[in-house]
Amino acid sequence: MFSMRGYDFVCCEWCDLAMYRGAEQVESSEALLPLRYPDYVTDAPVRRRQARQALRWLSRAGVEASRGPHLLDVGCAAGFFMSEAARPEYGWKPLGCDVNGDVVSYARYALGLDVLRSEFLDAPFAAGSFDVITMLSVLQHLPRPRQVEQRAYALLRPGGVIAIETWNRRSLAARGMGSHWHVYAPPSCLWYHSHRSLSVLFSSDRWKPLRYVAAPKWISVRHATSAMKSAAPRLASVARRTFRVTQASRTALPYVAGDHVLAIFQRDERAAA
Ligand SMILES: [Zn+2]
Repeated sequence: MFSMRGYDFVCCEWCDLAMYRGAEQVESSEALLPLRYPDYVTDAPVRRRQARQALRWLSRAGVEASRGPHLLDVGCAAGFFMSEAARPEYGWKPLGCDVNGDVVSYARYALGLDVLRSEFLDAPFAAGSFDVITMLSVLQHLPRPRQVEQRAYALLRPGGVIAIETWNRRSLAARGMGSHWHVYAPPSCLWYHSHRSLSVLFSSDRWKPLRYVAAPKWISVRHATSAMKSAAPRLASVARRTFRVTQASRTALPYVAGDHVLAIFQRDERAAA
């Protein structure tokens, strides 16, 4: 496809997944850690906003805690999604796992959540013990995606669902920007999905697709103005001053380029038959 900072990007002609050469050799997401979780505490309002959006989509797909409340948030980070999910209006009983010790401590001690510090593939969860598994901006960072899919299938109860937020490399925005698309960020982002590649990974003999929607990515005003800085410095400085005056620098803005998607799949029992 193209080269970037010494990484060669390739894409599979059959399943449409893109990656950089060597991504398949990455064994542990811990090695990728320093590049993740910037500003997780200051961005809390934005993360919570993103969380509520995913919870609403689950609900629209008929996935509600009243039909089984056990939810596993893979790569739960500081726990803002879990914390929102546990609110009475949603009613989930969330459990989380993450490899980053700092965010796990925050989730446990600041938010009082039940979080395990572990890779998803190594975590000692029992088969069939979850109604829902969420991977929000996580799948693209997890090594060994085939095993991740198999483990998710095994951990869900019959009829359980998985919800995935990731980027769509076949979106208009991604195609328009080519190799300048901001999502191409080796080495922490291993996999670059499309509708097709997700449908192959969560194949129709094992999973029933429930939803595939472009979902806004919520970003902080601070993040947006710093991203604008290189493209439009004057506009960025006006924006920054405006938001400083209104004290809204932590306000969430929807990023709606259409390249961020939410996909929901349901464990299909035909595979067990
Ligand atoms: Zn492939």
